[in-house]
Parts: sequence; C-alpha cells; structure tokens
Amino acid sequence: LKKYSVPIKRTNIITASKTVNGNFIVTDRKGVTFQSRKLIIATGLTDRLPSLKGIKKFYGKSIFHCPYCDGWEVKDRKIAIYSENKNGVELALSLKTWSHTITLFTNGNNYLKSPDRKLLKQYNIQVVTEKIENLLGKAGKLQFILLGTKKRLPCDAMFLATGYAQHSNLAEDLGCLVSKQHVVITRKSGRTNIPGLYVVGDASWDIHLAIIAASEGAKAGVYINKQIQKEEKQQIITTQKILA
Ligand SMILES: Cc1cc2nc3c(=O)[nH]c(=O)nc-3n(C[C@H](O)[C@H](O)[C@H](O)COP(=O)(O)OP(=O)(O)OC[C@H]3O[C@@H](n4cnc5c(N)ncnc54)[C@H](O)[C@@H]3O)c2cc1C
Repeated sequence: LKKYSVPIKRTNIITASKTVNGNFIVTDRKGVTFQSRKLIIATGLTDRLPSLKGIKKFYGKSIFHCPYCDGWEVKDRKIAIYSENKNGVELALSLKTWSHTITLFTNGNNYLKSPDRKLLKQYNIQVVTEKIENLLGKAGKLQFILLGTKKRLPCDAMFLATGYAQHSNLAEDLGCLVSKQHVVITRKSGRTNIPGLYVVGDASWDIHLAIIAASEGAKAGVYINKQIQKEEKQQIITTQKILA
C-alpha cells in the first residue's frame, strides 16, 4: 500500500458519526478524528469461548468454531461438539460429513428434546450430558475430556456452537440494521441501510471465511469508486448548468 500512498493508522476507533453534509467522522482512543465521504467497516467478530478449564491452550489448534475452516484436518478423528443450547444439534449432524465418531457434550445442560435425541441416535451421535471438569492434552492437541464424574473420554478435536459477537459497535452506533445472529445486514457490495456506509467481512452477514471477507472488501471498494465518480459527474453537470 506504501507504493500507492495509502496512509495506514494503527489505532482503535472508539466512535463513528455522520455529519449533516453526509460525511463520516471517526475518532480514535487518543481523540484524533478522521473524516471521509464514505466509510467501510471491516471490524470482524469475536468468537465466544465457553469457560472450560484449559480451553485457551487448545483454541485454534484442536478446538474450533468452523467445520469449513478446520473439519478436513480432523477428518475421521474423534470429534466432540460442545454446546449449551440446541444449536449444538445442527453442528453435530453437520460434522458427520467429516467423521463417523461424533459426540455431543451439553455440559450439564438439559436442552435436548425427544425428537432431537431420536435424530442424534439415527446419526449414531453419542450424547454426554455430564459437566466437563477439564480438557487434557499436550502442545495444543486435545486428547481427553475429563468429566465431573472423573471419567476420561478420548477426543482429538472439539467444535464449539457458542456463537460470536461483533468486535466493535461502530456499525450499530451509526444505525445499521443487525440480524438476530449479531451480524450487520448488508446488500450488494456491502451497502448498509445508512447511505455511504459499507460493512464487509465477518461483521456483515455472509459466510465467514477469509477469502469471502477479502472479496467483499474488493467489491465495496469498486462500488464506492464508481459511486464517487457518479457523484462528481453530477456535481460537474450541476455546476455547468448554474454557470450557463
Ligand atoms: C480459529 C479460527 C480459524 C479460522 N480458520 C479459517 C480458515 O481456515 N479459512 C478461512 O477462510 N477462514 C478462517 N477463519 C475465519 C477468518 O479468520 C475470518 O473469516 C476473517 O479473518 C474475517 O476477516 P475480517 O477482515 O472480516 O475480520 P478480522 O480478520 O477479524 O479483522 C478485523 C480487524 O479489525 C480490527 N478492529 C476491530 N475493531 C476495531 C476498532 N474499533 N478500531 C480499529 N480496528 C478494529 C481487529 O483488531 C482486526 O484486526 C478462522 C477464524 C478463526 C477464529
């Protein structure tokens, strides 16, 4: 980006607002403000981690959120699904694409209704409702799940159905519509319900993958450029009409 004279500011944006003339003003934690005609928010999501002992040692190495990111690497292994609510059922069923050995852990929660239990049984998915006491393994590799009953269950990987939250509230503060899944509702090219404001990547609603985030950013960039060209053309035409 240096080659193209794009300045990079490594700073945390705390507030964002829209001025009466339609520009955007963002302010960083030191109180420095930046103004622009258009704004793209690409602040991503934070995956929620359950408060399981030892989880940080394994997260990203053998404990994951997304089967499309990490399912292939653990195919045919012993996979645990962790969920404190019924979202775990769908995740457990979907992981059958990658492995025959799937176990759903509810960590002491009793949310499974009889039709869910029946479906899980049909898929040959075991259900463990006991509380988890600890996660055991070496060098980021999960090996056992230790239950409160002191029973140790062998396990190679775990997928979490624990959801996510927005990294920042900037889009919401600006008045963006947000879905029940806490992602910003966007239209083509990352457009939001706020004119001139674009949200791309994980923060917006679509599949959460790096390549999709990059493609959404590129599409918004092209769209914004065309939009600015259109606005400038209109301005030239209007000025010429006034002068004529
Ligand atoms: C464990 C794990 C494994 C994954 N594996 C894969 C994989 O194999 N393949 C794949 O395609 N995807 C994978 N993903 C998903 C992928 O990482 C995301 O889809 C992608 O990073 C989204 O890009 P993004 O730019 O939207 O958000 P992010 O990458 O989250 O970037 C957002 C950036 O905005 C910054 N930010 C947030 N708030 C502010 C603020 N207020 N001011 C300034 N900066 C701010 C953050 O610090 C961050 O740098 C994985 C994710 C995880 C967590």
